[in-house]
Amino acid sequence: MNVSVVLFTSDLRLHDHPPLRAALDGSRQVVPLFVRDRAVAAAGFAVPNRLAFLADCLRDLDAGLRARGGRLVVRSGDVVDEVCRVAAETDADEVHMAADVSAYAHRREARLRRALEAQGCRLHVHDAVTTAVPPGAVTPASSDHFAVFTPYFRQWSRQWLRDALGAPRTVRVPDAARSGELPVRAEISEVSPGLASGGESEGRKRLAAWLRGGITAYQDRHDDLAADATSRLSPHLHFGTLSPVELVHRARGAGGPGADAFVRQLAWRDFHRQVLAARPDAATADYRTRHDRWRSERAARADVEAWREGRTGYPVVDAAMRQLRHEGWMHNRARLLTASFLAKTLYVDWRVGARHFLALLVDGDLASNQMNWQWVAGTGTDTRPGRVLNPVGQAKRHDPDGAYVRRWVPELAGLDAPVVHEPWKLRGPERAAYDAYPDPIVDLSEGLARFKRARGYG
Ligand SMILES: Cc1cc2nc3c(=O)[nH]c(=O)nc-3n(C[C@H](O)[C@H](O)[C@H](O)COP(=O)(O)OP(=O)(O)OC[C@H]3O[C@@H](n4cnc5c(N)ncnc54)[C@H](O)[C@@H]3O)c2cc1C
Repeated sequence: MNVSVVLFTSDLRLHDHPPLRAALDGSRQVVPLFVRDRAVAAAGFAVPNRLAFLADCLRDLDAGLRARGGRLVVRSGDVVDEVCRVAAETDADEVHMAADVSAYAHRREARLRRALEAQGCRLHVHDAVTTAVPPGAVTPASSDHFAVFTPYFRQWSRQWLRDALGAPRTVRVPDAARSGELPVRAEISEVSPGLASGGESEGRKRLAAWLRGGITAYQDRHDDLAADATSRLSPHLHFGTLSPVELVHRARGAGGPGADAFVRQLAWRDFHRQVLAARPDAATADYRTRHDRWRSERAARADVEAWREGRTGYPVVDAAMRQLRHEGWMHNRARLLTASFLAKTLYVDWRVGARHFLALLVDGDLASNQMNWQWVAGTGTDTRPGRVLNPVGQAKRHDPDGAYVRRWVPELAGLDAPVVHEPWKLRGPERAAYDAYPDPIVDLSEGLARFKRARGYG
């Protein structure tokens, strides 16, 4: 036996891929395998935007493997059954895969290990593939994970990182490895019209452009909503078409305050992963309960609908919610203020918002999404759980001339800042010209008072 299986999951790349490199060791034949896992679909996680991006990723991975003499093997069904079947068909004696953090990923790994052992096959799970610093690699003295970012970041920054690996030159795939069809993006319906393209080649192009250009100004411009001056690498990190280890090395290589600020964001990603790895229940349960009795009555349901549709009457909130629907992506500042608006100003359960984001975000990721929602809702790791973002103040600060609002809310395209952020201040015929745009669904000070009352904050 001289065959290894590499199970690709959230690591759909050939560069810097430790499981693939280990599998190829000693000139072994390799089965690069992706399983379209029916449990992921059953959990509602396989939504059109991510399926479309995934289709691009698989196609590109297959093309990259073919250029190296191999091909991608795609199967559908139960992931454990399929891996065991492929291993048996190809006479493989080992399987390599990346470690991951969710409760599902832990169960998958345990099931896979047992099933493979029963047929004489070994499972090797590799760290630092989907994170730069693996969960548990840095811990405080008294706990298995950090609950506060700043001390985490201090230790994270001092961690030794392995070198990034190049892509293999050749990959020999045994003939016995049968593959199903690759999914086709054009056949997936209800995809956001402005969805980005996926795949490692696309990711590497974006990364190269980012390192040449945007990263320098990142520290100064990352919160500017209209400038759109962040990397937009999040879907590539989610699907693993780019390696976080490689990103940290290359950003540090670029140097400067922009690169430092960017690396800090990559550490946030690892931070949330180490929280979820230690507390997998935090995907659905409050990390720290505040004993909330969230609004859920009919009026609350109408508020949620207006929020989802981008018709709250707060232009910056509506712009962001419409960007989400159109692109399957949203600027980080916009995620913060729309989430604060739902969970605090409207006082609606963060899970309702997190679910909507996961239904649309191309980078929709259990750790980053749920833990950020909890952070904003004050049930997570934020050290100031009572802070509420004022959408008008946020808009004036982060969209000072109103360009972001005008881009996404065409009803207000004729208005300048600052009134574009507060159209309800228009009077008489001026207001009538904008009557296609709704009045605010909530008074901000009433929303704030309701939240403070509910939480018992003085
Ligand atoms: C309510 C809410 C929900 C979110 N849901 C997700 C999600 O499902 N998936 C996701 O990848 N990010 C999520 N984020 C984090 C962040 O908004 C996005 O990672 C970022 O906007 C992606 O754009 P970018 O790649 O241009 O980021 P950049 O600013 O260029 O940052 C570089 C990378 O750092 C990571 N990063 C940056 N900020 C964070 C953060 N706060 N938490 C974790 N990682 C971060 C991302 O991988 C990002 O690609 C969420 C944030 C909030 C407030």
